Amino acid sequence: MTELFSVGDPIADTKAPDGPVETRWDRRRFSAKLVNPANKRKLSVIVVGTGLAGGSAAATLGELGYRVRSYCYQDSPRRAHSIAAQGGINAAKNYRNDGDSVHRLFYDTVKGGDFRSRESNVHRLAQVSVEIIDQCVAQGVPFAREYGGLLDTRSFGGAQVSRTFYARGQTGQQLLLGAYQALERQVAAGTVEMFTRHEMLELIVVDGRARGIVVRDMVTGEISTDLADAVVLASGGYGNVFFLSTNAKGCNVTATWRAHRKGALFANPCYTQIHPTCIPVSGDHQSKLTLMSESLRNDGRVWVPKKAGDDRAAADIPEDERDYYLERIYPAFGNLVPRDIASRAAKNVCDEGRGVGPGGLGVYLDFADAIGRLGRKAVEAKYGNLFEMYERITGEDPYTVPMRIYPAVHYTMGGLWVDYDLQSTVPGLFVIGEANFSDHGANRLGASALMQGLADGYFVLPNTIGDYLAAGPFERLAADNPEVAAARTAVEDRIAKLLAVNGDRTVDSFHRELGRIMWEYCGMERTDAGLRKAIDLIRGLREEFWQRVRVPGEGEGLNQALERAGRVADFFELAELMCVDALHRTESCGGHFRAESQTPEGEAERDDENFSYVAAWEFTGTGDAPVLHKEDLIFEYVHPTQRSYK
Ligand SMILES: Cc1cc2nc3c(=O)[nH]c(=O)nc-3n(C[C@H](O)[C@H](O)[C@H](O)COP(=O)(O)OP(=O)(O)OC[C@H]3O[C@@H](n4cnc5c(N)ncnc54)[C@H](O)[C@@H]3O)c2cc1C
Repeated sequence: MTELFSVGDPIADTKAPDGPVETRWDRRRFSAKLVNPANKRKLSVIVVGTGLAGGSAAATLGELGYRVRSYCYQDSPRRAHSIAAQGGINAAKNYRNDGDSVHRLFYDTVKGGDFRSRESNVHRLAQVSVEIIDQCVAQGVPFAREYGGLLDTRSFGGAQVSRTFYARGQTGQQLLLGAYQALERQVAAGTVEMFTRHEMLELIVVDGRARGIVVRDMVTGEISTDLADAVVLASGGYGNVFFLSTNAKGCNVTATWRAHRKGALFANPCYTQIHPTCIPVSGDHQSKLTLMSESLRNDGRVWVPKKAGDDRAAADIPEDERDYYLERIYPAFGNLVPRDIASRAAKNVCDEGRGVGPGGLGVYLDFADAIGRLGRKAVEAKYGNLFEMYERITGEDPYTVPMRIYPAVHYTMGGLWVDYDLQSTVPGLFVIGEANFSDHGANRLGASALMQGLADGYFVLPNTIGDYLAAGPFERLAADNPEVAAARTAVEDRIAKLLAVNGDRTVDSFHRELGRIMWEYCGMERTDAGLRKAIDLIRGLREEFWQRVRVPGEGEGLNQALERAGRVADFFELAELMCVDALHRTESCGGHFRAESQTPEGEAERDDENFSYVAAWEFTGTGDAPVLHKEDLIFEYVHPTQRSYK
């Protein structure tokens, strides 16, 4: 295996404070250097991304007085993928008085991540969670309320308390509108300049510091450079490497991959979250999959027929011939086990021939009990828009026929390596939200991505970036600076190269094939032989891509095939690294299930002695063996045990 990678020096998070975990964030904030208000006006920050992480960060940095330039590829910051988030956002408010606390959220998250995240980061996240809700309520985010007017909560997987705040099935949209309003306020105030329909295609590094980006105006095709004192990437996750996923079609890895190629280490790329409740794949025509929010598992019961091959309609299968397998195997958490566990359990029953629907790749999510107990109106009030969406897509009415669901790629826990300050290994390059690897270990708990994105953007980054910027403003760079010019030329050359191939295969056909390889060999279950095969297939397909891809049109103007071609080219390189990471981690943990490492009951078996580390990968060249740097994980408060939800 060593020919596929080499092992370099270990890496340490030098910004992480020690001492009692409860006081670490306070102490880091106190020790971080401050920038006085007059100096902030002299400092500029580029923020790539306007989702919950980037939107909240740009708004907050603008409010602090920095000169911010904010970028997104959509036509409005409001269209960032965060808008798709349905179910909710966690916070340890304990409004329900059901035993929740900052410590419990911290505990649940470290355990839920299968002991592959940092205690310091996760504790900070749990602490900050309570401030997020206050911030959003003050902005006017319309969280659901109980009859008496108090904020309502519901339960999500991996927790036995009810700590998820929500706005029907549109939580991301409502939170994003809050962040967007804060952002627009700063745009009006002149502290934030907004660039929509601009795609970052390269990071500019000068004298070892991140100093800017190269962007393409997606409407005119113009390539330009933007220089600043620091760069923040909030560019989201890379689940679309699988082609089919619940992510918005535009989600891609280019911003972080370009930074990786310029020296930023990429951490735990193989940790992918496969969400258990998605509408099953229905044929080759599909280009994306649809999530049915995890919140549905509060009231929906998951089952399959007890007998393999039973193809009767759900209504014809009597109660005693149904297997509510999550309730049976995991009585303590039942339908609310974490996503990795629920997904694997669904795969297992389908592998046994007990799946339902076309191809046997589905399980039921049944609301009959909830409707009988609470009444249709109450169920409609909680989940109405999700039920409507399901009916529109499948043509079946989930109020009368159980939903059919199956796991699908949903979220990526891996991302650029960052220290406690959210700074990557390239000084001046900060990474926030789903784009970094920071808080979720090998499996993210439901409703914790929105929490992390807003924690990073509203609270963490605005406090930590000052420590770096206090040494600025940095030397003014001339437009003809060699490193700046080289970055720009590299982008122009790459675009010219893509256009020049002029082959006979569409970009999408390559992407679809890459996705199939990834799903087959680096999806829900991975094996040594499968991953090796995947690496060979990816390499072959990547070569073919550069010989046969057809990108019609030209670079000067709107060209969506060109946009996609650049993104798919980066996906090829990422895919290979994901497989190498998955191959080297011979244990199972969270979303990474190695078939060779399971307990006799078929549960994931970790190998703490050998793999209790963050795998941070260094780029050495396309197709060349990457270098692995290990960051040891230390657990002082939540001691690794075999996760049990029984
Ligand atoms: C269907 C669905 C439902 C979900 N529901 C929930 C939920 O209920 N609760 C929860 O906690 N999480 C949920 N998640 C996960 C959560 O929505 C995401 O993890 C989170 O919104 C990511 O936010 P972000 O700000 O990091 O990135 P995004 O919202 O993905 O934003 C990325 C931004 O970066 C910009 N960008 C990217 N690349 C470039 C580039 N090269 N140049 C310029 N701009 C660029 C984009 O334009 C965009 O503005 C859900 C995810 C999905 C797919």
